Amino acid sequence: MRRVLFWVNHRSLFHYHLGLTTFSLFPGVIVLLITHQWYWPLATVLLVNILGLFRTNLFLALSFHVLKPMAGMFGGEGFAAEEMVIALGSNKTLQKLGGSVPAERILLLLPHCLQRHDCDRRITFNPYNCTRCGGCPVGSLLDLADRTGVKIAIATGGTLARRHIKELRPLAVVAVACPRDLGQGMLDAYPVPVAGVENSRPAGDCLDTQVDIASVEETINRLTVNR
Ligand code: SF4
Repeated sequence: MRRVLFWVNHRSLFHYHLGLTTFSLFPGVIVLLITHQWYWPLATVLLVNILGLFRTNLFLALSFHVLKPMAGMFGGEGFAAEEMVIALGSNKTLQKLGGSVPAERILLLLPHCLQRHDCDRRITFNPYNCTRCGGCPVGSLLDLADRTGVKIAIATGGTLARRHIKELRPLAVVAVACPRDLGQGMLDAYPVPVAGVENSRPAGDCLDTQVDIASVEETINRLTVNR
């Protein structure tokens, strides 16, 4: 079986441990009030960060929910909390499942905003209503799904995304979305592992978005079992 190790950028790791350290200050203060010894709060912070090395969904969620309001308080640093979840969550999924998932148990989950805004094909409940005219990335992603054998679904929001996951019961999800939806969605999908690919938004949020098909294909290939 192919084992794949993926590089996680230092920025995401820094944000992750910043969130965990900030979170652990709360129990740290309680420990200080009880023990009146400075080293016990320090040990609490260290313990939380050491446990955080396992990067479970719980610790990712803890760091995310602390980082998100912090980014807002300090003037907002884009999607730092979401990008931390996307980078670390995808890395964990690919490390754990890389090269081991049958293609037909992978769900390629796409956002509705990839569809060209003036296209009248109804693709939300059946992506194969798309005629693959080349007007937007949906046709190429259907070609990719045909080529690799993965399932494909399109969601207009978190509720429909969760419904697709519940109904199709994939072993892993390759999800395309904007950082905001992807970060929260990856946490919500637990315990189903997700590898995320961010879309680009040249026309602004939620309108005629684009995605790098090669990145989606590479992510699928890294998950798929070697035959
Ligand atoms: S590829 Fe063409 S038919 Fe398919 S969703 Fe995009 S614009 Fe519509």
